[in-house]
Amino acid sequence: MSSPKKKKNVQSLNEKLVALTRFLSKAAERSLPFFSTLKNCAKRSHFKWTKEAEKAFQEMKALLKNFPTLTSPIAGETLILYLAIAREAFSSVLIAERDGVQTPIYFVSKAPTGSELNYRPIEKFVYALVLLRRLRRYFQAHPIVIQKKVTPSAPELWELYTDGASVPEGAEYEALLAGVRLAKKIGVKKIQAYKVLVEQIFKKSIEPSQLTAVIDEAEHCWMTNIIEFLKMGSLPENDKEAKKIRVKAPMYDLHDDVLYRKSYLGLTFRCVGPKQAEKIIVKVHAGACALHSSFRTVAEKIKRLGYYWLGMYNDAAEKIRVCQECQLHAPISKAPRHQMIPITPPWPFCKWAIDIVGAFPSGSKSADYLVVDIDFFTKWVEAKSLNKITSKKVGDFF
Ligand SMILES: [Zn+2]
Repeated sequence: MSSPKKKKNVQSLNEKLVALTRFLSKAAERSLPFFSTLKNCAKRSHFKWTKEAEKAFQEMKALLKNFPTLTSPIAGETLILYLAIAREAFSSVLIAERDGVQTPIYFVSKAPTGSELNYRPIEKFVYALVLLRRLRRYFQAHPIVIQKKVTPSAPELWELYTDGASVPEGAEYEALLAGVRLAKKIGVKKIQAYKVLVEQIFKKSIEPSQLTAVIDEAEHCWMTNIIEFLKMGSLPENDKEAKKIRVKAPMYDLHDDVLYRKSYLGLTFRCVGPKQAEKIIVKVHAGACALHSSFRTVAEKIKRLGYYWLGMYNDAAEKIRVCQECQLHAPISKAPRHQMIPITPPWPFCKWAIDIVGAFPSGSKSADYLVVDIDFFTKWVEAKSLNKITSKKVGDFF
């Protein structure tokens, strides 16, 4: 079989490989280069047969030439199940060992997709076991010994972007250095930085005092019990509390003694204690740009920044309630406290009103004021122009 030249050839090759999965070890892992040639390949002209795909194709051909002989199990025989977990694929093989020779019975393999890629090793093993449902009849008829192995995958490439805006003070470089330090702390092995301009920094744009500002948290806060449980498995003596911690703990992760809260979408939030939380609220509420937004907006912003603590919304509301600027510039409502009640006059001239308007530009007889009278029942208007406002002249109007 010659190497595929068109998208259609690869699709056909993949179909054939799917049919042979049962007989091939690590079929998913070996087929990955073929799948990746089909990615972002909506048009035929986008198709590219890569070097990796060619290499994988030749290896697959060599493997198929020396096809492993599968065997069928003998009744009551103990079978060995090997589970291998790599980042790109879950592979397993069911094996029978006879006279020191291991012969495969069944291969199962799958490439994880979407959220499955974020599974932790233990979760991947459980998932791989779930995938083995099709081997149920072997599990029911034979005692099974499970052997597991985690294949370390090539270090993932992390990309680090700094703001393209270059300033003479060199804040961009310091942001870059801070990013590199952070990446090192979370165990990133391979990193690629973008938009770095070569320029010598003479002056630090961030004062050292800001960099070394470390907040000491109180000895016991909401995180303590969870950290102790994740670290050493110790629980509080109170049964109720212990149960709570045991239920909550799977939602958290401990990395380098720093507690992280897992979210449903696979993101992790850094957990902070009450003192740090207070600082963060103040920074977000009245820090850069001093937006002084409401407590809900502040809490959501803090989440977007990647922080988490118990009772974020309540703490933000408490802190913002006493913000002086917010109180000084709060909008004053001029609306009446209750709805206006209309009073209907029952007969003509029961209620009427008089008003003086002016001064207007002088008209005839140099009159520049108006006396206006309105009856509330008939809405009858009477008006008279006056050149001077005196009690006598207004009296004469009536
Ligand atoms: Zn405020």
